[in-house]
Amino acid sequence: MRPPLAPPMVAHVLLLERPDGLVLVDTGFGTADLADRKRLGRPFLTMVRPALDAAETAVAQVRALGHDPAEVTDIVLTHLDLDHAGGIGDFPNARIHVHATELGAAKRPTLREKARYVQGQWAHHPLWAEHREGGDDWFGFASVKALADDVVIVPLHGHTRGHSGVAVRRPDGGWLLHAGDAFFHGDQVAEPPGCPASLAAFQRMMAVDNKARVANLERLQELARSHGDEVTVICAHDKGQYDALRG
Ligand SMILES: [Zn+2]
Repeated sequence: MRPPLAPPMVAHVLLLERPDGLVLVDTGFGTADLADRKRLGRPFLTMVRPALDAAETAVAQVRALGHDPAEVTDIVLTHLDLDHAGGIGDFPNARIHVHATELGAAKRPTLREKARYVQGQWAHHPLWAEHREGGDDWFGFASVKALADDVVIVPLHGHTRGHSGVAVRRPDGGWLLHAGDAFFHGDQVAEPPGCPASLAAFQRMMAVDNKARVANLERLQELARSHGDEVTVICAHDKGQYDALRG
């Protein structure tokens, strides 16, 4: 993906191998988006210019790792924007975990929200698991367990109404926080924080509640500052963070 004047972007998906099955965090675009790219809408296709490469879909990459896609039992989504939820149709039997507010927004979008959600991406009627802030505390953030205590939803509203991060406990004991679209560039949680002007404008433009987005970004900056040794904070679209984790 490459919005005007912005660096090339990825749609970062995590695959977790847990004892009871495979779990995805976000799904990027799916095979049905590639087969019918028009459903993504002309404004999105023109502005973001997604690659839509079959080999890059989550289902192709799960297979390339030697797994059967049917082993994916659960998918945890940061939000339901078209570039995050497109792949859920490739795993029709998986439970889809999402913040309840986000599912409400996606199913009943306002006029302004309409273009970001593609109803066809969940036309197969997946089994939804809706979550709300559950009274748990995760490094000072209200949170709720999605799966046991090692996959946790951390509400970070602002980019969309129910946008959330997904925190995953790593085998070494630390945490990886997939912060979705709470920020778009790794430097936004670096010291000192920075961001290319074009990407900063894009984030402002895409936010349904920019004040909440900025407040949550500040909390993530503080998290990275104070707990950087225990928590790695990544976002969905930064290619540098993606390459570093893959390497
Ligand atoms: Zn996105």
